[in-house]
Amino acid sequence: MLAFSIIIRFLNLYIILSTFSYQVYDKYMTNFTYKNDLPNNLEFGPVVAVDTETMGLNPIRDRLCVIQFSSGDGNAHIVQIEANVNKSPNICKILTDPNKIKLFHFARFDIAILKYHFKIDISPVYCTKIASKLVRTYTDKHGLKNLLREMLSIDISKQQQSSDWGATELTKAQIEYAASDVLHLHTLRDKLNVNLNRENRMKIAEACFNFLPVRVALDLEGWPEDDIFSHS
Ligand code: MN
Repeated sequence: MLAFSIIIRFLNLYIILSTFSYQVYDKYMTNFTYKNDLPNNLEFGPVVAVDTETMGLNPIRDRLCVIQFSSGDGNAHIVQIEANVNKSPNICKILTDPNKIKLFHFARFDIAILKYHFKIDISPVYCTKIASKLVRTYTDKHGLKNLLREMLSIDISKQQQSSDWGATELTKAQIEYAASDVLHLHTLRDKLNVNLNRENRMKIAEACFNFLPVRVALDLEGWPEDDIFSHS
């Protein structure tokens, strides 16, 4: 009988402890940071959110400084790329995996700078900005901050956007900002997909995503601003 009650006590303790750690785990978001590449064997699942931070908005002139990844589990994996490093095999493996959707906000820029830097082609891709432009025709505000506020009631700060991403050590504010740009893209995509289906625009959205590598090639090969489809 004594042994029995001891077992019961242990069981209770186990249940209390495991619930506690689950709750902590549930709310605990971690920003992992690395230099120059992701560690080996990090799995992100079938859809991986990706973003970059750079020295500016010209993918040919400006240095790629940071690449962020998230599987949508609340954790962000942030890789700082030091100057003159252009080989990151684990990153390139994920970006070129034909079975992984690379999920961006304004994919055109990120694909261009990643293609130019690593000499790789990135597909398949999904762009939340294109999806937004196809369904949120009632507004011209398609920035990530606006989208997250309207669709997910999440407020993110854009204060660090134009900070020095080439710094040797990133600040805590920069790391948190970099993480916030990938952490919510999966939920955002789910919401945008509902609206794309509702408005019967999923097919044209997918066609746009598939065209992105061509649009990027035009950007890098000398037609960044020209619309080659226009008459003039
Ligand atoms: Mn960003």
